[in-house]
Formats: sequence, structure tokens, C-alpha cells
Amino acid sequence: MPSQQASERANELRTLLNQYSYEYHVLDIPTVSDAVYDSLFGELKKIEAEYPELVAVDSPTQRVGNELKGGFKKVQHSSRMLSLNDVFDRAEVEAWVQRIDKLLPGRKHEFFADVKMDGLACALVYEDGLFTQAITRGDSYVGEDVTNNVRTIKNVPLRLRAAKGFEKFLQGRTEIRGEIVMLKKDFEQLNEQRKKAGEPEFANPRNLAAGTIRQLDPQLVAERPLTFIAYDLQRSDPAEIPTHMFAYETLTAIGIRRNTQASVFDGLDNVMKFVDEWGKKRHELPFNTDGLVIKVNNRAQYVDLGIVGKQPRAAVAYKYAAEQATTVVKDIVISIGRTGAATPVAVFDPVVVAGSTVQHASLHNADEIARLDVRIGDTVVIFKAGDIIPKVENVVVELRPKSSKKFDYEQALKEQYPELEFERQGKDVVYRVKGSSGDLTLKRSVEYYASKGALDIDTLGEKNVVALVDAGLVKDIADIYTLTVDDLLKLERFADISANKLVDAIQAKKNPPLEKFILALGIRHVGAQTAIDLAKRFESMDELKNATIEELEEVDGIGKVVAESVVAWFADEDNLALLDKFVSLDVRPHYEQKSGKLTGQSFVITGSLESMGRDVAADKIRALGGTFQTSVGKDTTYLVAGGKVGASKLKKAESYGTQVINEQQLLDILQ
Ligand code: NAD
Repeated sequence: MPSQQASERANELRTLLNQYSYEYHVLDIPTVSDAVYDSLFGELKKIEAEYPELVAVDSPTQRVGNELKGGFKKVQHSSRMLSLNDVFDRAEVEAWVQRIDKLLPGRKHEFFADVKMDGLACALVYEDGLFTQAITRGDSYVGEDVTNNVRTIKNVPLRLRAAKGFEKFLQGRTEIRGEIVMLKKDFEQLNEQRKKAGEPEFANPRNLAAGTIRQLDPQLVAERPLTFIAYDLQRSDPAEIPTHMFAYETLTAIGIRRNTQASVFDGLDNVMKFVDEWGKKRHELPFNTDGLVIKVNNRAQYVDLGIVGKQPRAAVAYKYAAEQATTVVKDIVISIGRTGAATPVAVFDPVVVAGSTVQHASLHNADEIARLDVRIGDTVVIFKAGDIIPKVENVVVELRPKSSKKFDYEQALKEQYPELEFERQGKDVVYRVKGSSGDLTLKRSVEYYASKGALDIDTLGEKNVVALVDAGLVKDIADIYTLTVDDLLKLERFADISANKLVDAIQAKKNPPLEKFILALGIRHVGAQTAIDLAKRFESMDELKNATIEELEEVDGIGKVVAESVVAWFADEDNLALLDKFVSLDVRPHYEQKSGKLTGQSFVITGSLESMGRDVAADKIRALGGTFQTSVGKDTTYLVAGGKVGASKLKKAESYGTQVINEQQLLDILQ
């Protein structure tokens, strides 16, 4: 049974997608990008796959195109003009090939691939070699008769060329299917002319081509430079065209433009090479493309594989990574940066944008939240181009939950940081921790980075840090690695020996243990044991940076608050820049699997020990592979009683089967 939430969401998505589809297919004026449409469409498809009872007859997943515009004669297609199933990566192509193998066992497949044109699908009918009719795809069964308009497209021959060996294609009915596009150069030229004439420029070539071909006045169509590029050829006897490649060769022979990039491949690896090659070169194509089409080359097999819904089983559209996607905001967490600045971060369901998974984006400041009016529960459009940091572009207001409330930034600051006060000075758009001048926070974070529990950098204590920051030599933590003896000698505090000593001490800590480095960054709620747990689980900064909230929460001892804090820290652009700077300065934390006689054993110390501080004891336990915990849990092996242990703690330890030992017993274990 689908939950009420799933069925409401499916309903809302359906309504919105149908509206977008109408704007795109009928009005030729889309209001959102294809990437946004595809992303919401993908979400609806996922819900429908999980709950087939939610598939409605008017679902966009069940239909090709849209209802017809009117004004043109309706024509029934000789066979359906289908749409294609999308795939987005190698794994999905592999799954598609596996399905084909299962349906046609023991048959060897050859694949045919071509670049995909982003235009308007149209069928051209030739009778005895003469152009007689052009029909748009319409709703796949019935299209619009746009013959008079297509007649004005200069590269559509009114008579097919006679070519040796291909004579039969000039006899009887030959149907050619393809896309009507406006080439990029023609589109630019047209816009250039409009600019000069003071007319508004057109937004995109695909919708201009589609809108043009469905103009009622052929004279106007003739003034717009359109091009027809074929991708299919049909005859009443299918045996005349054994493969897709043969269809393409025939198209060229009879005088029809088709893509010369199309090729045949004998295995998945070669198909993927073609996919990757065009992924890089696609911007060089004369028309806009959003991917490739991959088909089973043998047309008899193509037919045998059949159709599911509105797509043939034997073909897929490989879509290149889009720079936009939609997702739902789960939370807005605020991270306090090293300057005391509060940065709000939207945390959302992980989503693939521009080829990588993202799950959070900085919202920068309260003004930006107000400008976007982004709220928890909102569906948002995420934008990311290449390596650029993802950002929330806008909110899909139509999909906003009815119960949603405007995000109250000041209230959120109070809730997330009850112990702190914030202020916003003058024209500053950012809230900062009250009383924390940037320098003060910086000094504290450098001090913390160098402290014993963290990187333990000899002689980089409070006074030296203050001197370095005040002198402007250290503007962020990473700057300490740029310090030279000469720099230090300019300061009163330093002489030859002390300057050399400090520089050496800093340089000696360029390969810190990963857990120490994580701790040293001062991520809120990440103490020594959490840093160790994170290091153990993720083993590198890169892995940790990309960890999802779910992955973080799976780590023993890490809950929602810590997970969100980690995610928020890595969403802060200042922090990302800092990490890059560490890398450029060759600071490379390393992870070393610690194992020893205490591997698998965990310790809690209560009260104080006489022989050593608690931190020292913790380090010793960890050095032997053990885990140091702050409170007794079901996986605690030993509770070390430094002094008297309270009755409740003892009871808890007993209930978990934790052994209670004294300081001497601990020392024996550590021996
Ligand atoms: P599709 O994009 O998956 O493409 C399938 C079509 O590709 C085929 O029917 C064919 O016409 C065409 N094609 C182009 N080159 C080809 C080639 N070399 N070989 C074979 N076929 C080729 O599906 P669709 O049903 O055509 O359209 C859906 C598209 O429309 C999506 O990209 C979607 O984003 C867009 N859309 C956008 C909005 C919006 O509001 N922005 C609304 C509705 C639909």
C-alpha cells in the first residue's frame, strides 16, 4: 500500500509534469529546463515502479508527446513513433544489455549508436520517390500534417535520389523518420539579426524549431533556417532493411542527410568508448544534443524485443550528465566557520548533478534564504557545472508541502546554538558569533589545530599564535605551513633557534594521522573518539568529504547532530578552500589501520587516574588498537574506575556485561 505521502507526491508530480509537457509540446515555450523536467519525471517513475497502483492513465510516464495543437490535419502513423527509455551511466547500459541477453538468449548482439538530436521528431513520406507528406510525432499514434511547412526546409528533397543498388527505395512507400532541428550556427545568426532589428532574441533552438514547424503560415517557416536529419527508414517489407547501419547507408544513397558519426560496435566496452568520446566532443556538433541513442543493430531482433509502454526494448537514450537536478530539502543546518560566521547549509536527498552525487549546498546567508524562500520540505533545483560547487538555484513552489513554514533564521540559530549569541553588524549580510572578531576565532582555531590532542605542534602555543596572527603572517590554519625562518625573525618573539625550531616542528606535521587531522579542523561535535571513528570508517579526507548523512549515521556512536555538523562543515566554501590549500601545501593526512592487542576492545574511564591524564590513557589505548569511549554502551569491554564509581554506572555496566577494573588493572593491560 502506498503511503498517503507517496500518493500525494505522485499526484502533484503528475499535474506539474503535465503542465510542463503542455508548455513544451503544445506551446513550444517551456518554463523549466529539460534537466528539471527529466529529474522530476525520474522521481515520478521511481514512485510508480514502487507502487504500480499509482500509475494513472494521464501519467506522463505513459504517454509520448502531448495532445495536438489544432489547426493541422491529423494523420495516423503507419506504426507508432515511440520515445526512448533513458539511461544515465554504464551500469544502466549494462543492465539494459543483460535484459536483452535474457530475452534473446544465445544470440550475439551488435550495437548501433548515433548522437541524439534535440529537435522535433517528424516522419517524411515518399511515394515512388516523391515527397508527399510530413507528419509530426504527435502522441505517437497520430501526428499533425505539416507537409507544406516541411516543404520549405531546403535539405528535404522533394524527390529521392536514384542510386545504383538502391532503386527499390524509389518504388512504393518509403518513410523516413528524423528530427527537425535548427543548427547552432543558424540559430545564432537569426538571433544576431533580431538583435540588430531590436527584436527579442529566441531562447533555445529546439523550441524555436518545434514552434516554427507548427506555424500555420508556410511563408514564415521558409524564413527560418531549419534542417532535417534522419535517424530511421521504413518500408512495408522490413526484410529490405536488415540493420540500422544499412538504413543509414541507404539514407545517404537516396539523398537524405543523416549523422555521419553513427557507428556499429560489437560489445559494451566499445559502445561506452563511443559514449565517452562524444561526451567530450558533443559541444562540437552542429546541433544541440542531450545524449546518444544506442540500438540493437539487427532490425529483426529489434522487432522481436518488442515494446514496453511507450518505449522499444531494443533501444535506449543515453543522457549526458545534466547540470541541474531536483531534490527535496531535508534540513537546513548552520555551520560556524573559523571566522565566527554562521553559514546555513541545505541538506537534501542525495542527487546526481553534473556526474557527481551531491547532498548539500551552502545557502550562504539569511538574505539568500529569504531571497530563495527555501524551506525544509521544499523541492529545489540544484545547479552544478563541472567541478563548481553545487548551489540551490530555485524552489519548485508548486511542489511545496502545504504545512511548510517560512524558515526563521534567527530562531534556527537559537535552536542550533543555544549557548552562543549572534550579531549582524552594519551592512554585513552574515550573522557572526557575538564578540568573536575574526582574529579571535582564527587564533583559537590555529591554537586548537596545534594543540597536544590534535596535531601536537611543539612551541606553537597561544602566545606564538597570537603573534603570528597579529603580524598578518597567518590568515588561516593552512598558512602555518608557509611560514619561513625569515618571516619569524621579523617578529620580536623569535630568534634564530626558536624560529628554526618552530618551522621544523610545523614541517614535521605535514603527514598527520588522519584522525588527528580531522580532530584538528575543529568541526563542531567532532571530538577525539568521533574523529577516530570517522577516520576508521572513511580512511581519507576525500571519502569523508563525500560521505552522506546516512553513511555517517551508520558509524557507531554518530547520531544525526554529529552527521549534520560534519556535512555542514564540508558544505562551507571557506572550509573547502582551506582543504584545497592544505593539499596545495602538500599537507597529506594519512590513515593507518591501527591494530594491536586491544583491537576490538573498548574502554570508558570514570573519575580521574593517578598515574596519567585521561587523554594520555586514551592515546595509549588507541595506540594498541582499542577504542576509547565517553560513556558505557553495549559494546564497552572495560569500565575503568578512577576513584569511586556511582551505583547507576555500575548497574549499567553490569547490564551490558562490561567488566569494571581499577587503575592498576588498566596499567597491567597497557603494559
Ligand atoms: P527522448 O528525449 O528520450 O528522446 C527520444 C527521441 O529522440 C526519439 O523519439 C527521437 O525522436 C529522438 N532522436 C533524436 N536523435 C535520434 C537518433 N539519432 N536516433 C533515434 N532517435 C533520435 O524523449 P522524447 O519523448 O522525445 O522527449 C522527452 C524530452 O522532452 C525530454 O528530454 C524532456 O526533457 C523534454 N521535455 C521537456 C519539458 C520541459 O518543460 N522542459 C517538458 C516535456 C518534455
